[in-house]
Amino acid sequence: MKSITVYKVLVLSIVLVPLLATVLAISLLWERAVHWLDLVLLATMYALTILGIGVGFHRMLTHRSFRAHPVVSFVLLVLGSMSVEGPALEWAATHIKHHAHADREGDPHSPLEGFFHAHIGWLFAGKADSNVYCRHLVKEPLVVFVSRTFLLWVALGLIIPFVLGGWSGLLWGGLVRIFLAHHVTWSVNSICHTFGKREFETGDQSRNEWIVGLLSFGEGWHNNHHAFPRSAFHGLHWWQVDCSGYIIWTLERIGLIRDVYRVSPALMARRAARKAGGVLATPVLLEEGVQKATETPLPLRSSTSQRFLPDYHMYTERMDTDQVAQQKEA
Ligand SMILES: [Zn+2]
Ligand SMILES: [Zn+2]
Repeated sequence: MKSITVYKVLVLSIVLVPLLATVLAISLLWERAVHWLDLVLLATMYALTILGIGVGFHRMLTHRSFRAHPVVSFVLLVLGSMSVEGPALEWAATHIKHHAHADREGDPHSPLEGFFHAHIGWLFAGKADSNVYCRHLVKEPLVVFVSRTFLLWVALGLIIPFVLGGWSGLLWGGLVRIFLAHHVTWSVNSICHTFGKREFETGDQSRNEWIVGLLSFGEGWHNNHHAFPRSAFHGLHWWQVDCSGYIIWTLERIGLIRDVYRVSPALMARRAARKAGGVLATPVLLEEGVQKATETPLPLRSSTSQRFLPDYHMYTERMDTDQVAQQKEA
């Protein structure tokens, strides 16, 4: 009980301190001009840590959209950690849980439980267990190392702007940057499951919202992402700006990452046709009184191809199956 209280106080301070720091930053702005260095530190640190989340934690670690050189993996995981959105393993577990139960009972942050809950409230509801949702990652030494040394990278993300820009550098490149990146990431969970357009039928409420797409460097094309979770590119049309996708493309070109997973135009057309054909899944509403998902492993299923694999493993298995199907098609 005590540890739950400590955890809640910790989450609250992580949410509130950057917010209060932003208020302080604004008052300082009115007292004297903000230096160019502060804005450069804010923009650079924001870009790097948002890429750490989008390219590192999300597309590389959670969805295995590509394989990276170990040094690139390490740098991406460290940058993601600097965003102060929890250790890599915990982040991946929560996100796999989200995809496995998207907008159904067990989804950690569905807006069907309220917009505030989807944006921030879910942070107070406890953590997803990485031993349940991403057992395959618990065995990866690099991922475990960066996760265990999480606080070191958080500190580094504050020390760097402090060394380069002093106290105002720490304020803008550290705390204001964390505040902005937090709300942009959380907007993918709240806004992109509430507002925006749906190009593909996905059986959940995911949507493409261009403002979040721009601010999050591509993560806001969230309906595309739920339709093709393993795709390294979330922007699927030329006009869907996806900065994370451009970085992945560049890193692939210079040989630092490989096995980049792409969605073929034929597969896209087939998924789009499914919606046009009127096959719309009914979202399963979260009913009050239904028992919340527990952190215990899901029941085992047995079938010829998916024998003895729990649901969450079937989810990651399915991403592999999609890839095989697409390769056959190509
Ligand atoms: Zn989602
Ligand atoms: Zn995802």
